[in-house]
Amino acid sequence: MAGVQTAVALREMGSADEITLIGDEPHAPYDRPPLSKAVLLGGPAGGDVRFDVDFDALKVELRLGVRAQALRVGEREVVTDAGAVPYDRLVVATGAYPVALPGTTGLPGVHLLRTLDDAAALRPVLDAKQDVVVVGAGWIGAEFATAARQAGCAVTVVEAADRPLAGVLPAVVTAHMRAWYDEAGVELRTGTPVAQLEPGAVVLADGGRIPAEAVVVGIGARPATGWLAGAGVELGADGAVVADDRLRTTAPHVFAVGDCASFPSGRFGERLLVHHWDNALQGPRTAAANVLGGDEVYDPVPYFWSEQFGRFVQYAGHHADADTLLLRGDPTTDAWSACWLRGERLAAVLAVGRPRDLAQARKLIGRSASVDPALAADPAVPLSSAAR
Ligand SMILES: Cc1cc2nc3c(=O)[nH]c(=O)nc-3n(C[C@H](O)[C@H](O)[C@H](O)COP(=O)(O)OP(=O)(O)OC[C@H]3O[C@@H](n4cnc5c(N)ncnc54)[C@H](O)[C@@H]3O)c2cc1C
Repeated sequence: MAGVQTAVALREMGSADEITLIGDEPHAPYDRPPLSKAVLLGGPAGGDVRFDVDFDALKVELRLGVRAQALRVGEREVVTDAGAVPYDRLVVATGAYPVALPGTTGLPGVHLLRTLDDAAALRPVLDAKQDVVVVGAGWIGAEFATAARQAGCAVTVVEAADRPLAGVLPAVVTAHMRAWYDEAGVELRTGTPVAQLEPGAVVLADGGRIPAEAVVVGIGARPATGWLAGAGVELGADGAVVADDRLRTTAPHVFAVGDCASFPSGRFGERLLVHHWDNALQGPRTAAANVLGGDEVYDPVPYFWSEQFGRFVQYAGHHADADTLLLRGDPTTDAWSACWLRGERLAAVLAVGRPRDLAQARKLIGRSASVDPALAADPAVPLSSAAR
């Protein structure tokens, strides 16, 4: 996504330079969000996920099935399994890879969900209505569970934490999501760490076993930056390329964008590593402008959405534990929001079935607006009217 968007942005900005897009997957570049949604269910809605970009017309050379193995900053070349590729400027956009449970790679019936091939391997599981265990009640786990239930699979989700999405949202919010699993007929077992996977079963840390015809592991993703080790491009403890606010890396002429890179957010006062689609859409515009000699700062209001259990969940901004949480509406209903205030300023919003809240909050956060907490907590008042 970020690589394609960078190439497109460079052309839109008038670059006539040679552009080479290298990717290790064999498929033409495609969009990932449908992979955990419509693609799993097949049919017309899950059709073509390829980006609608004419690479020939844009004069972008696509080198598919080619893996970058190392970077030689001094020589200005990327070493690939198909030879060295020289560059004047390089944009690293290698995304992220899904974390596997140790010792389970290649085990029959065990799946990850990142690529088109992963989704294709899961289609027959849904078609056959297999009994599935999902490890991890995060975004991917919830979306896969939704599709698998729709297909008629029996689904159990096991989660080590005491609630879904424990790493990203506070208990006040996620407590209500437990009911979504119940409603969909998904058994959610929290506080249930997995010890290991065996053919046909998930073995729990407490010794219990859950039979499973298929297991889907959704326990997070890590930046795909191993190939940069020792290259002189600084990587953070999270494995992300440490980019600056112009998406430049610590190596000259090398930029980084998308799931593989973190950047300092002036707006939120901390370094952010964003693994969401909108970041891979917006970041490339800044990266491309700076590749062409511009001096643009990347300081987005992060945004993402998730479709799970018949609900449209959207989030904009960024919150920290110390921010004040306000609920807008009743979280046991189908439409409600949560707002986070930092001092008087709106820092983030989570909207469940309230896209207007999201759209208005995104603008308010973008202009660092202060809001009246009582009005912001009243779902009958448009969020924009809560601005001071
Ligand atoms: C199943 C799924 C569902 C999602 N749903 C949503 C959603 O609903 N909402 C949302 O906001 N976000 C969603 N996302 C997140 C969003 O898709 C990602 O944030 C986005 O794809 C990131 O783009 P990227 O270009 O940084 O990385 P990627 O799209 O991962 O692209 C990186 C590419 O680089 C390749 N690569 C990696 N290493 C090398 C190497 N050494 N050499 C050559 N090529 C390499 C990879 O194979 C990959 O093709 C979803 C992600 C997944 C996996």
